[in-house]
Amino acid sequence: MICLGIESTAHTFGAGMVEGKLRQHPSNSSFRIISDAKDVYKAPPGTGIHPREASRHHIETSASVIERALVRGKVSAEDVDFIAYSAGPGLGPCLRVGAVVARTLASYYNKPLVPTNHAVGHIELGKMLCGLIDPMVLVVSGGHTALAASQDESWKIFGETLDLTLGQLLDQLGRHLGLSSPAGPEIENLARGQDHNKMIDLPYTVKGNDVSYSGLLSAAKEAFASHVPKEDVCFSVQETAFSMLTEATERALAFTEKQELLVTGGVAANQRLGEMLETMCRERGVRIGLIPREFAGDCGAQIAAAGFLFFERGFTILPHKSYVRQSWRLDQV
Ligand code: AMP
Ligand code: MG
Repeated sequence: MICLGIESTAHTFGAGMVEGKLRQHPSNSSFRIISDAKDVYKAPPGTGIHPREASRHHIETSASVIERALVRGKVSAEDVDFIAYSAGPGLGPCLRVGAVVARTLASYYNKPLVPTNHAVGHIELGKMLCGLIDPMVLVVSGGHTALAASQDESWKIFGETLDLTLGQLLDQLGRHLGLSSPAGPEIENLARGQDHNKMIDLPYTVKGNDVSYSGLLSAAKEAFASHVPKEDVCFSVQETAFSMLTEATERALAFTEKQELLVTGGVAANQRLGEMLETMCRERGVRIGLIPREFAGDCGAQIAAAGFLFFERGFTILPHKSYVRQSWRLDQV
């Protein structure tokens, strides 16, 4: 069966397809990506994502992105078996574009329509690409910073951010430094090559097994205002923020005794975060899977992957009843 997945939660409009068999058992993923296409809304330097502008971008690019996904996969719209879309969590105006596009295609081609949770998409695609069965999952993106593991057909949270997500921390810092959003890759480049002699002291806040990044952001902005070079600010923010998460991840692994760790979401593309988590996992004898860089950020393939899981469990919806849920937590799925 072929699933077309449509992603539009924030800055990315994505369309991707996976092909596979419906699973007999939840642990035996048997699908593969047949295509993935996307177009990312870029905010002007020094500004953040504007939901209305991003949704306009999605309206303008949706047709060409979906066409590219179909052409690359050598599949016609009639051959698609069902259509999944990201129903949340995300920005309302952006989510609605994906929902309307998916609903229109489903009605026109008479295909089942599957509302899908975006975080489950990051996780299911990551599990499949990294060959993991039952991992502790660290989801680090624009919308999420959470440690989750599945139990009895649902996701339990073993730690999360109390305020900003890791992606928001980096993007808001980037905005302050005059970079364009999403700023993670540029911050990674600025931090590269710096060393620990240049490390500045920033708040390290782990409460229980949750992290808090708002004090770290304020302190980093103050440091920049008092003329600490931006390379040093970026380096220190990365080292501090990633160490906090590595500590929380190690504790979650110790508590659950999971033998696998999956790192997924846009910030999983960061090499330094990967190195820290790899070192910790090596010391604990835990197998780590870092989602490949090209599939770390938001994409249609993740929604197609999660779409399989939702479809198998009967989550289809009539097109005129399709919905979006701006705050659909992973542990409510
Ligand atoms: P997502 O919402 O999953 O698409 O993730 C987007 C977030 O990932 C944004 O906050 C980006 O700044 C961040 N991001 C993307 N690439 C990197 C990178 N190489 N290092 C750190 N953060 C990144
Ligand atoms: Mg995401």
